[in-house]
Amino acid sequence: MSWITIVWSMNAAACLTLASIFFVAWCKQRESWVHLIFSCIALAAAAIAVFELQLIHADTPQEYGAILRWRYVPVWALVVSLVGFTRLYLRAGRSWLAWSACGLKTLTLILNFISTPNVHYREITALRQLSWGGEMASVPLGTPNHWSLVNQVTLLLLLAFFIDATIIVWRRGDRQRALLVGGSIIFFGVIVAAQVMLVVWGVIQVPFVSSFAYLGIVAALGYQLCDDTVRAAQLARKLDASQAALLKTERDLEIAASAVGLALWAWDVAHDEVWLSNQARALYGFSPSEKLNTQRIRRVVHPEDREVVRKAVENSLQTGAENPAEYRVVLPDGRIRWVARRSRTEFDSNGNAIWMHGVLFDVTERRLAEERFRLVVDAAPAAMIMANKEGRMTLVNKRAETLFGYKRDELIGQPVEMLVPERFRSHYVSFREGYFGDAQARPMGAGRELFGQCKDGSEVPIEIGLNPVHTSEGLCVLASIIDISERKQAELEAARQRHELAHLLRVTMLGELSGSLAHELNQPLTAILSNAQAAQKLLAGDAVDVSELREILAEIVDEDKHAGEVIQRLRVLFRKGEVGHHFGNLDISQIVQDVLKLMRNDLVIHDVTVQTELAENLPAVQGDRVELQQVLLNLMLNGCEAMADCDSSERQLLITSGMENGAVRVSVTDRGGSIPEERMERVFEPFFTTKANGMGLGLSVCHNIVKAHRGNIWVTNNAEGGATFHFSLPARSQAQKNNT
Ligand code: ADP
Repeated sequence: MSWITIVWSMNAAACLTLASIFFVAWCKQRESWVHLIFSCIALAAAAIAVFELQLIHADTPQEYGAILRWRYVPVWALVVSLVGFTRLYLRAGRSWLAWSACGLKTLTLILNFISTPNVHYREITALRQLSWGGEMASVPLGTPNHWSLVNQVTLLLLLAFFIDATIIVWRRGDRQRALLVGGSIIFFGVIVAAQVMLVVWGVIQVPFVSSFAYLGIVAALGYQLCDDTVRAAQLARKLDASQAALLKTERDLEIAASAVGLALWAWDVAHDEVWLSNQARALYGFSPSEKLNTQRIRRVVHPEDREVVRKAVENSLQTGAENPAEYRVVLPDGRIRWVARRSRTEFDSNGNAIWMHGVLFDVTERRLAEERFRLVVDAAPAAMIMANKEGRMTLVNKRAETLFGYKRDELIGQPVEMLVPERFRSHYVSFREGYFGDAQARPMGAGRELFGQCKDGSEVPIEIGLNPVHTSEGLCVLASIIDISERKQAELEAARQRHELAHLLRVTMLGELSGSLAHELNQPLTAILSNAQAAQKLLAGDAVDVSELREILAEIVDEDKHAGEVIQRLRVLFRKGEVGHHFGNLDISQIVQDVLKLMRNDLVIHDVTVQTELAENLPAVQGDRVELQQVLLNLMLNGCEAMADCDSSERQLLITSGMENGAVRVSVTDRGGSIPEERMERVFEPFFTTKANGMGLGLSVCHNIVKAHRGNIWVTNNAEGGATFHFSLPARSQAQKNNT
């Protein structure tokens, strides 16, 4: 065997080996079409080598012509595969050039089989035997076929296509591929074309050696593919290493996170795949191997909280904001767990969310404690509202809902100011800011009347106690609000009853007073009459004593004034006025004198003598003259009645006055029966009476009047028998102080 046979056979064998290796590679990786195409190229190159060896050994021109014709089949296959390889592997080269070149090559193949003996020769006239490398090689002699022009145009198109593709790849910066793939195809292609043309045209007389140029192309392409494979393997190794490092980092992170009670999670938004750390899986009650997506996660979230979670996720997807959310998770055994979630979103260059990851933590304990606190607050009889530093309501109990007429949802998150009447709002805001500066438990607005504003616009009188509370959301204030409208109503009712009683007293006293008032009026009227008669007599006489007449008239005027005063007092007594409307500075001794005047008739009827021991220079008291007269009048009448059964010598009333503990005191002492110890307090109660015709209202009214004057009324028993009723009123200076 000569070396020509050996070299051509080795060429074919090398190409076949590469073809089979890359075919196997394609079989293992079906999507890698480049490997299959390369396998075709190498196979075609091997076939060309075999045909060329046969050409060298051809004996007749006919045999040579036939072999050359069939050689064209692998050449066509190789060229078409190279075009395909360039388009697929380099992703370059104009497609119209590729299609035109392949089309013309196919046309040449057809012409090759139509023409005899082939597309290169019109006729092979003889074979020249050349001694080549120690062996005889056949070289054709003949006339070139004019159809070979089509082949040459095809070669030009192919050249244009490969140059175009190479330039594109070069410009892309992928120089190695441009040189190895594009460069080798152009270089060896030109050599092949040139050798074929020179031999066919008879310029040189050598055997066809194109297979070595094709081998060059196969070697360059094979090298590039191997290089790719090696790089891919290196990359895979690096990827493995970095994945291992990533895994380690993930594990470290998970350990660190779980050490502080955090569980990690991540969501591949595009593929809807959810990854949870082991801790997070345990939190949700998932098994370690279960495949997870958003639907699966959604199923374990408590139905009432799904909307909260959905909103938080949607917001994170749109804005990338952290959007913390707390929600309940229903575990497989039905237990409820509270979970808090924090997230971060990553977006691609188009602004689409691609990843979301974050942490979860178990807040069940805290939520349960808050729940218990909420239940306690809810059960409280007072309305309770908790507000944060910004003055927004964070907790509202049922009583508060009822009091203000709002639903809880309408209040939570709203400013507390909405419950404060418009006119107080500006004060309230500065008060709130001041309170958080020095937060401690205390009543709000001490000494002032507070009002709350209800949903229907009405106002309700309230009392507010404030307590600072430290919550997970920071310092808050818990306000307990008491509706005092009923109390206010009761106070008004009591005042009304007092007025009624006072009026009733005046009416009941009518019987008693009418006699004395008639007597009172009788006196001045009698005096006026007798004075007027005396004046008439005087005028009837001859000498009129003018000065005497003037005296008589002056007395008439005095008596008339006296009668007027009596009538005036009577009118005041029967008027249903309000307590405290006629307050003025009063001299208590004067009031005693007034009442003594009023009582004059009664005292005579009851055969009672009165002694007075009134202190001098007592300070004035503030009060209503008529009401205080009523008190004294009533005490004296009671004293008279208490002594009804006594001897007339015993029937003595003593009225004293003086200063006691900064107050002016008046006492009425009788010599009647004493009051049993257990009744000392009861005598001041309404309707308490021991008398057959009594109404039990007198002392009760006295008590109310004295209390309305900020004074005291009490009774003591006398050592020598009888009782003493005392009442004291604040001296004027004291009263004034209290008023301010
Ligand atoms: P009444 O119309 O029944 O007299 P009061 O309120 O004036 O109503 O008095 C209530 C009761 O207090 C009397 O029924 C009597 O038992 C007792 N009381 C009042 N004043 C005296 C007194 N000076 N001495 C003894 N008991 C008195």
